[in-house]
Amino acid sequence: MKKKFKTTIICMVCCIPLINAQLTVENQFRRPLSDVLTEISQRFGIRLTYNMDTIGKVLPYADFRIRPYSVEESLTNVLAPFDDKFEKQGDRLYKLKPYEYYRRTVQEGEKMLNYLKSLYSDKNQWEKRKSCLYHEVRDILEIDSLLAKRVQKKPILSNVRKFDGYTVQNFALETLPGLYVAGSIYSPLAKGDHALIICPNGHFNDGRYREDQQIRMGTLARMGAVCVDYDLFGWGESALQVGNAAHRSSAAQVIQAMNGITILDYMLTRKNIDKEKIGVNGGSGGGTQTVLLTVLDNRYAAAAPVVSLASHFDGGCPCESGLPVTLACSGTNNAELAALFAPRPLLIVSDGKDWTSSVPTLEYPYLKEIYRYYDREKNVQNVHLPDEGHDFGINKRKAVYDFFASVFSLDKTQLDEKKVTIEPEDNLKIFGKNGELLPENAVRSFEELLIYFDKKRYAELLSDLSLEKKATEWVASLKLTNHTDAVFLTTLIYNHLKTVKDWHNTHPYTLVPAGINPTTGKPLTELDRQLIADSAMPKEVHETLMNGLRKVLSEDQVEAILDKYTVGKVAFTMKGYQAIVPDLTKEEETVILSYLKQAREQAIDYKSMKQISAIFEIYKTKCEQYLNSNGRNWRQLYKAYVEKVKAEKAAQQNTD
Ligand code: ZN
Repeated sequence: MKKKFKTTIICMVCCIPLINAQLTVENQFRRPLSDVLTEISQRFGIRLTYNMDTIGKVLPYADFRIRPYSVEESLTNVLAPFDDKFEKQGDRLYKLKPYEYYRRTVQEGEKMLNYLKSLYSDKNQWEKRKSCLYHEVRDILEIDSLLAKRVQKKPILSNVRKFDGYTVQNFALETLPGLYVAGSIYSPLAKGDHALIICPNGHFNDGRYREDQQIRMGTLARMGAVCVDYDLFGWGESALQVGNAAHRSSAAQVIQAMNGITILDYMLTRKNIDKEKIGVNGGSGGGTQTVLLTVLDNRYAAAAPVVSLASHFDGGCPCESGLPVTLACSGTNNAELAALFAPRPLLIVSDGKDWTSSVPTLEYPYLKEIYRYYDREKNVQNVHLPDEGHDFGINKRKAVYDFFASVFSLDKTQLDEKKVTIEPEDNLKIFGKNGELLPENAVRSFEELLIYFDKKRYAELLSDLSLEKKATEWVASLKLTNHTDAVFLTTLIYNHLKTVKDWHNTHPYTLVPAGINPTTGKPLTELDRQLIADSAMPKEVHETLMNGLRKVLSEDQVEAILDKYTVGKVAFTMKGYQAIVPDLTKEEETVILSYLKQAREQAIDYKSMKQISAIFEIYKTKCEQYLNSNGRNWRQLYKAYVEKVKAEKAAQQNTD
């Protein structure tokens, strides 16, 4: 006892110098994060892929964070100070990435569900929680103020196309003034009142035009349900109005919810809809929307989110998690939000190869417990496909057909996917092949919608949209006849411009230590250091752009795009050389042109015009050195040129 007391005293005395010692220990054992990660990968024999960058990241107490017995504990320790994390991708393969606020581990999902279950143990307590979630989710989305601003207009409708057992009609519905949501209505040919299924779309390629979407809509229509699908905000025909980049905004989340509600409002004004049989069904991001729509709109009688639902993943697109819905009522998740649908029929389709692999053991048992409060445990079903991945394939569609056939008494004898006609994309559009039928009053930019949202919040997005506009204009200048190529190129160039911008903005010149410029012998300027910081951008960014351009364009067209990036500097500078060196030979011209083209290709990876000019300066020096080595005297030529220009100016003034 006595001894212990003494030790404590000694420790307390030691404390002060100890703190000082810690602050002064050599450089806090700092090492660049990239070195530490390379060492970890060699030491443990693993491969790392980077979805983040390590430039400028220096790790204190670096080697002390490595645990010789555990690669994963080591990675956790070295990545945590930078808010980065890892994901095991396979045997000895790890992907490194930045913190994702919308994604947690399965273990965290389990802990959260256990916590949520501790908040309620009977129907009464659950109903209280339900009421809190209903109100707070609406408040977070600010959806009621948006719904109040809607216009009530009749939709624009296309002619009706008749197929085997069903029809398709395109529509555009004006929601906010000048803002349209476009989609297609698949209706049964059979007479009588029909069930209605609203089908919000996910992020699968080609959006709602894709084959498996048309198959599902047509098949359900043949079976007796009217099905409606519609574009994501900023996708399909919505892109005509707000551009693609607008999709990656939190506004997309509430606008898409508003679209779903407004389409249902309209559909209920149509004849032959059985108001008791309203369903909602979507896959992936469309599944996330399915759950949100059931929370916001109590008109639904059955719901089927497909390959989306999990307690540990909110959906990685801003249209799913851009607004902090899961912070409602001190924290919730999509499993609890789906539970709000109890006791009505709910089908969860999950698979073994994405985040929904936990559904059978985690989310489904949780949902059953909530349904048990209503004595309707059987109303929640899970179809789990352990060998399948993230898609809306045949087995997922079958699960959806069976579910709606059973809850809405659809005609299963008409279930035959082969009877569905796949229409070309353009047939499913209401505004024409190239948007030529977009109404006069249509909003033409995302900016016009900012009267409904907090402007400041979208500053970054607006700058992205200006890049998208640039890409669109550059591609338009090529006057391509192939629409698919034009769309591909616009996305390719936009992605490149955006990556360059983001890299530039997250890698300030201060990341590059001050030093001496080896060619001038002077200290590096801020511009020099910024060029160095920007030049560390991964080479793939450049290669992806160039390979993409060359895939669909001729060499002349590729050059035209590169000239757009560099505002025609190659031709402009070449003209300068021709003026300064009047007897420039063909051979000299070829060499100079090749230098300038090199400058151009390098310069496209820099954000500001100042930087682009600086890159050209480097190559201009090379050109001038070449001319000197070719028996010319650049300084003298330049001097003579300046004098000639001066003399011409003076002569001009005299005659004036
Ligand atoms: Zn989205």
